[in-house]
Amino acid sequence: MKIHEYQAKQILAEFGVPVPKGRVASSPEEARTIAAELGGRVVVKAQIHAGGRGKGGGVKLAGSADEAQQVAGQILGMQLVTHQTGPSGQKVKTVLVEEQMPIERELYLAVLVDGASGQPVMMASAAGGMDIEAVAATTPEQIFRVAVDPASGFQPYMARELAFDLGLTGDQMKSATALMSGLFKAFVAKDASLAEINPLVVTKDGRVLALDAKFNVDDSALFRHAEITALRDVDEEDPLEVKAKELGIGSYIKLDGNIGCVVNGAGLAMATMDTIKLAGGEPANFLDIGTVNNPDRVVNALQVIIEDPAVKAILVNIFGGMARVDVIAQGVIDAYQKLGLKIPVVARLDGTNLEEGERLLNESGLPVIRGKDLGEAARKAVEAAAGAA
Ligand code: GDP
Ligand code: MN
Repeated sequence: MKIHEYQAKQILAEFGVPVPKGRVASSPEEARTIAAELGGRVVVKAQIHAGGRGKGGGVKLAGSADEAQQVAGQILGMQLVTHQTGPSGQKVKTVLVEEQMPIERELYLAVLVDGASGQPVMMASAAGGMDIEAVAATTPEQIFRVAVDPASGFQPYMARELAFDLGLTGDQMKSATALMSGLFKAFVAKDASLAEINPLVVTKDGRVLALDAKFNVDDSALFRHAEITALRDVDEEDPLEVKAKELGIGSYIKLDGNIGCVVNGAGLAMATMDTIKLAGGEPANFLDIGTVNNPDRVVNALQVIIEDPAVKAILVNIFGGMARVDVIAQGVIDAYQKLGLKIPVVARLDGTNLEEGERLLNESGLPVIRGKDLGEAARKAVEAAAGAA
């Protein structure tokens, strides 16, 4: 789960990470009041879940409370487009008004889980303020890393090593190492998957603080963080993903292609997406409906899928283990009746109760296209989507 910058900064501050003074505003007048409290020279920052706001015009400096009100008026309500939002952008509902920092250096600091080693890793770079993926691609030697053994935790020498790599000495070294240990504590305590400060700044008067903050929390750990769940902003999420969660149909993730997928099991979902791509198509979503023992779950899944106007064909790929193929087949049949399905459906079914599932589909008289194996089903789905488009 993602949260806003201002929320991330509150969490980091609780763990001793220094952040600029500031508050959120949802109207230009409110922004003016906060700017006046902060002495007038402020930065006004759009609060959306995507990064790259600066380049998109969502971060603006103001020299006075009047100017803060004016720029807040420009940013609030805007449809902010960044490289992370997609072309339609994201509507700005609140801005963070913060004291302006006199920046000497912009650095990068993050903690994330390294899937390869299965350990948290702290990453730092002197090339902060910019797109870290670009730095990683062009000048990977500018990124420093330390892997942290979860059993022994983040050690002071690791912080000193990274601070040294960043070229920090004296008091700045001390501030940076304290900040790093605070960041790591926050990461562990909140079950984060990513805690990123970009930029981490050194000010002209020698302070080290988090000018920006991104903090993603592992969804599987939310049950023990009511305080994080309370920060959820549904407006920032894909509406169909929200609907899928409400309907409880498993994990649905919207993608860019035109073939909707109904699959049981995350591994099968990935294999299905690969096979669609191999057949020259693009999946419109990733949907793992899990173990299904109720046809309604299939109907709900298909309802979410056809609500995406990009979907031109649907591939139902089920291997019945604990789930029964006849229940899935009944769900597909019900969906034709309840949803008035017009989009071509390709089904590849195998496993438990296959014969009964086949019988139900055959006797239904519905135009369900059949694939004897995944390869054939994927090819037929790609053909059907091309025909329908
Ligand atoms: P992002 O573009 O969404 O990552 O937003 P950031 O919070 O990282 O802000 C983008 C850029 O705005 C930073 O890299 C800074 O260069 C600039 N910026 C943000 N806050 C301040 C500030 O207080 N003072 C100055 N001088 N620049 C700032
Ligand atoms: Mn940033």
